[in-house]
Parts: sequence; structure tokens; C-alpha cells
Amino acid sequence: MSDIAVVGGGLAGSLLACVLAQRGERVVLYERRPDPRGGAAERGRSINLALSERGLSALRGVGLDKQVLADALPMRGRMIHPVAGELDFQPYSADGERAINSISRGALNNVLLDAADPAVEIRFEHRLSALDPVSGELTFETPDGEIRARADVILGADGAGSAVRGQLVAHGVTTETLDFLDYGYKELTIPPREGEFALDPGALHIWPRGRSMMIALPNPDRSFTCTLFWPTSGTSAFASLSSPAAIERFFAEHYPDVPPLAPGLVDDYQHNPVGLLGTVRCAPWQYGRVCLVGDAAHAIVPFYGQGANCAFEDVVVLGRCLDRAGGDWARALPLFESSRRADTEAIAQMALANFVEMRDKVASPLFRLGKRVEHALERLAPGHYVSRYELVSFSTTPYDRVRRRVRAQHRALAAAGLGLSAAIAGGIVKARRKP
Ligand code: FAD
Repeated sequence: MSDIAVVGGGLAGSLLACVLAQRGERVVLYERRPDPRGGAAERGRSINLALSERGLSALRGVGLDKQVLADALPMRGRMIHPVAGELDFQPYSADGERAINSISRGALNNVLLDAADPAVEIRFEHRLSALDPVSGELTFETPDGEIRARADVILGADGAGSAVRGQLVAHGVTTETLDFLDYGYKELTIPPREGEFALDPGALHIWPRGRSMMIALPNPDRSFTCTLFWPTSGTSAFASLSSPAAIERFFAEHYPDVPPLAPGLVDDYQHNPVGLLGTVRCAPWQYGRVCLVGDAAHAIVPFYGQGANCAFEDVVVLGRCLDRAGGDWARALPLFESSRRADTEAIAQMALANFVEMRDKVASPLFRLGKRVEHALERLAPGHYVSRYELVSFSTTPYDRVRRRVRAQHRALAAAGLGLSAAIAGGIVKARRKP
């Protein structure tokens, strides 16, 4: 049995600690925040997120899927809100039945912490400030001052701004690149209307506007959390709305169905922070006894709804690597990095590509036609043609294999003379923008 330190008690860290404790390891989980159970949600992070098959499959492994799904709201498709005209519902799957699930990030984290506790020793208000990757010595800032600890294995699950990654970089072991988008995000709320959902809770709502985009996911309290994506600088950007009147004018012009549903819109806009979005790439993730998992290793932009799903899948893959290495961490950690890297690079690229699709293409008639063609192909050739969305969200096919399979499908369609279908399904044909 090894002494394992998991740094970061967010989604990946708390699941990882739980899985390792179930395997009989001695685990200490260090988290910089106070115990979030019973506390208020953190502002500025997404309040809810879409959980799909990869995340669910990881939760199934520790017997938590049903408990988490009991508080989730299934979303079976996208509901497109044009500036004017009818709403357009686009199912995610060919049979219209498959759903991604809107869940509260805080509630999910609490379920995982409860499941880890007490098999895992959880030390809250411990912020990692230094790490010696060779000796395994860790230094934490706590309310009682600086505390030192030691571990045989150190797993950095401390998110996109990872201090563990920072320490590997500082020791000259790892190099990193952080590619920030010139877009940020701000959360806004659509409260319940007369006690009911103000919009259809069975869909993920999208307002595609080209330069900006808004999405909304339902919450169990019948509110919706909207996320507005917009550039962080320039003339048409978050900072360009500096007065209540300017905010009202902007929403009335671009999102006209929202203000009547969101009485706190101006207040939310003025007080909620703008979060940053980016892709983290670093190499190696693993050095000796230290390894990064989840966002700490490979944070991605949120446009495929896969960051947490991918982080949970990391935990499953790490468990498999430990099995293959017969429980030998020195062999398991390099195996984890080599077997997982191509997949995380694939989803990072697909997530960036999906931003263009969501903020622009989903509104175009050509895109809608493409989706209908895809779903028809899926029904005509079940198991032979499977859409990228289906493979990413409703399967656990490794992301890199998804990318290769989708390319092969498009080549096969083109070779079969279905050039237009292939082009549409592959998103090769550029959506025509409305004037
Ligand atoms: P985190 O959840 O960030 O957890 C890291 C933990 O480490 C935190 O608890 C933090 O307090 C702790 N920590 C940090 N530094 C230290 C330190 N020095 N010492 C100790 N502890 C530390 N993903 C989806 O799958 N579906 C979605 O729909 C989705 N929507 C998103 C929407 C937005 C706007 C954003 C920004 C992200 C979204 N994501 C989504 C991505 C998802 O939130 C992340 O991928 C996921 O939270 C990663 O989990 P993690 O445990 O690796 O990191």
C-alpha cells in the first residue's frame, strides 16, 4: 500500500480519491477551499454542467451514477433561439431519446466528497504552495500556518491553474502552454416563472449570434443558468456595456426573448465576473512519483461539454493503467500519460471546433439539413455511420478514435458518391450567414 496525496478536491480529485480508497490505497485529499458541503456555491465557475456518458460511466464504477442522475435534468437536444421567429428544437440523437444531463457542479462535488469521506482523509483549507517532485515533500498554506507533508505518489487534480503543474514547471521538468480564447463568459439567471420553468427544461438552449453566443441549462429549482460568451476586449465586448441602459439595449437587440424572462439581468451583468476560457497543454504530465489529472493536465474550452466528463474518464483510465501495471505506480503513471495523451489532444481540438458550430452554424438551414442527413444515415446504417456528437457524448469510444472514425466515415461517404452528404455531415460546407 502506498501513501497517496491527491491535491485538489474538485470533481476529478474527489472521484480519484474515492476510487483509490476503494482499491485499498491510503489517500489524503488536500483542498484549498473550506469544506463546500453545506456552503454556498462559488461564483464565477459554471454553476451547472452537462454530464454525459463518459462521466456517468466513471460514476457507475463507484456506484454513484443513480444518486447523481436523481438530481439531474435530461436535455434531449438543442433549442435554438433566433433573433426573430420560431424556436427550433434539434434532437441530439437519431431516435431523439438520448440526453445529456444538466447537473449542479456543487451538488456533484458534494456527492463525491461524501463518498470519499471517511475512507479518505480530507484536509480542507490546505493550499499547495510548494512541492519537491523528487523527495515527495509537499508544503501547504493553512489557517494555522505552513504545514509540510510527504507522499509516495502525488496526483495533481487542482484544476486549470494547477499549482502542482506550476511546481513541475518551476523545477524545469514540465513545459506548458496556455492558449486563452479572446472570449470570456458571464453567468446570468432566468428564474422560475410562477413557480415553473420559464423555458423548456428538456433542452440545452442556444442563442447563436456569430460574434456572441448564449446558452442556458436548467436547474432543479426551475431556474436556468445562462452563460453569455463574448470577446473580452474590443468595441463589441463585455466591457462595452457600461451602463444599465446599454445592457438593456444590447439584450433587446440581440437576445430579445431574454429580458422579459430575466428581471435580474442588469444586476447579474454588472456584478457577475467574466471568466476566462482557454486550453492548457503541458508535457510531460508525469515525472517520477508526480502526475497531473483532469484540467490540471489538459483544461479545454467548454463548448463540447466534455471537460468534467474527460476528467472523470482520466480517473477510469488511471485505474486501468494501475491494473495493467499490477498496482505498481512507477509503471502505471507513465502508462497513463502515454495511453491518454492523444485522446485529450483530440477532445481539445473538437471542443474548439464546436465553438464555431454553436455560436454560428447551428442557426443555418444548411446545418439543420446536415443534422437531418446525419440522423437519416444513422437510421439507415446503424452502427456503420455514427455522428461525432453521438460518439463523443453517448459513448466511451476514446476521443482520438472518434476523430479517426468520423474522418473515415466522411471519406467513405465521399467515395460512395454522397459528396454533399459527406460535406454537410463533416461541416465542410460553410454555413451561409444571414445578412
Ligand atoms: P476543478 O473542478 O477546477 O477542481 C480543482 C480543485 O482544486 C478545486 O476544488 C480547487 O479549489 C482545488 N485547488 C486549486 N488549487 C489548489 C491548490 N493550490 N491546493 C489545493 N487545492 C487546490 N465540463 C463538462 O463536462 N460539461 C460541461 O457542461 C461543462 N461546462 C463548463 C462551463 C464552463 C463555463 C466552464 C468554465 C467549464 C465547464 N466544464 C464542463 C469543464 C469542467 O468544469 C472542468 O473540466 C472540471 O471542473 C475539471 O475538473 P478538475 O477536478 O480537473 O478541476
